[in-house]
Amino acid sequence: MTLLTPNSPTAELQALDAAHHLHPFTHGAGLAEKGARVVTRAEGCWLTDSDGNRILDGMAGLWCVNIGYGRSELADAAHRQMLELPFYNTFFQTTHVPALNLAAKLAELAPGDLNHVFFASSGSEANDTNLRLVRTYWQEKGQPERQVVISRWNAYHGSSVGSGSLGGMKGMHAQGGMPIPGIHHIDQPNWWSEGGYATPEAFGLERAQALETAILEIGPEKVAAFIAEPIQGAGGVIVPPETYWPEIQRIAKKYGILLIVDEVICGFGRTGNWFGSQTYDIQPDIMTVAKGLSSGYQPIGASIVTDDVAKVIENTEFNHGYTYSGHPVACAVALENLRILEEEGIVDRVRDETGPYLKERFESLADHPLVGEVKIVGMMGSLALTPDKVTRAPFAEPGTAGLICRERCFANNLIMRHVYDRMVISPPLVISKDEIDTLVERARKSLDEALEQLKAEGHMGVPAE
Ligand SMILES: *Cc1c(COP(=O)(O)O)cnc(C)c1O
Repeated sequence: MTLLTPNSPTAELQALDAAHHLHPFTHGAGLAEKGARVVTRAEGCWLTDSDGNRILDGMAGLWCVNIGYGRSELADAAHRQMLELPFYNTFFQTTHVPALNLAAKLAELAPGDLNHVFFASSGSEANDTNLRLVRTYWQEKGQPERQVVISRWNAYHGSSVGSGSLGGMKGMHAQGGMPIPGIHHIDQPNWWSEGGYATPEAFGLERAQALETAILEIGPEKVAAFIAEPIQGAGGVIVPPETYWPEIQRIAKKYGILLIVDEVICGFGRTGNWFGSQTYDIQPDIMTVAKGLSSGYQPIGASIVTDDVAKVIENTEFNHGYTYSGHPVACAVALENLRILEEEGIVDRVRDETGPYLKERFESLADHPLVGEVKIVGMMGSLALTPDKVTRAPFAEPGTAGLICRERCFANNLIMRHVYDRMVISPPLVISKDEIDTLVERARKSLDEALEQLKAEGHMGVPAE
């Protein structure tokens, strides 16, 4: 067959895609009818599609392109590494330079005594590792009963059977026999949608105390760990009330359960610190990382564990690993990405300069008639859409408004994602103030257009004209 190129006509690219490519989290037939948007190249915060549109990427790919697109240093690092040692495994008592350097670098960056790294190729794989790791940890500690992992509804921890079970996405659980046994979900700290009867502080405490209730119901001697994202990302950028994490930390300590903090999105600068755990003063026993670790230039993830966890696990042969655990090219690219993040002061700039600017500009959308709540920390934010700001009413058909708004964003050359009726952003950390202005202008224009369409279609409780 003749391969197509980025310069092939869009219709041909779309037809071949529809004929053979099954997309993740997509209604395939619906997409085939419409045709996928074909992204052909990217630079900085900007994508180009096969029709020549320039699109501002408000999502950093999929929450991951922290240093922006087009950094030739990462391509050079991959090229050098492929020539020197394109692959070797880290099983069977061998190692290689990129893996040992990256493990040491992560130990240096991660807070506290998170000093040991188990590599994977994605966040899903790293969370699968974590599930087996915490259960093995308690077996080795002579408490084999401790096997239950507590998580939260609407959490996202990946899409494999293990990580998807850890996650709390009901739509995922409905397909393919999930969740697997031994995983228990508690409610999320989503104040705006679920906590209107209390102050955010009281509600944050209440939702954290759900962990204690669950531990007592299950039996503390049966609980291995609690897993959570510092800020829920794919769940809609749900920023917990300030009271939430200190209470979770207290409860985890009280019952001696391991705390797995899923930093796949929050890690590597997204919240204005290297890790979300620093933003919320959390002390994880295990941290999951992926996405921003390589800025998405290579697939790589990892579990970073404390001295204590490592010591226990190292007492046994942990029968677990992936062919590509510590893949040399992925490690070399991740190291180069971390060098750039550090040497260019990108995380500091998010904390001190562009993060506060984005916050101010993004929060200005709060006056829009469709917007009920604006939440933003560092470079991750969300808008809750509602037909009634006062009562916080949900839309009669959840997800409709979000979808319409996302379509308007697309048409206005802005990538913004929707999670039901929350609009979310997570731009590259290198976004400039000018680009932030563009993002917010396009978001407002899209909200205006969405509002008109929602009114016309009768979704605002107003009869169509
Ligand atoms: C994306 C994500 C994952 C899964 O990572 P993959 O690389 O897609 O497997 C896990 N946890 C969180 C918080 C994520 O956002």
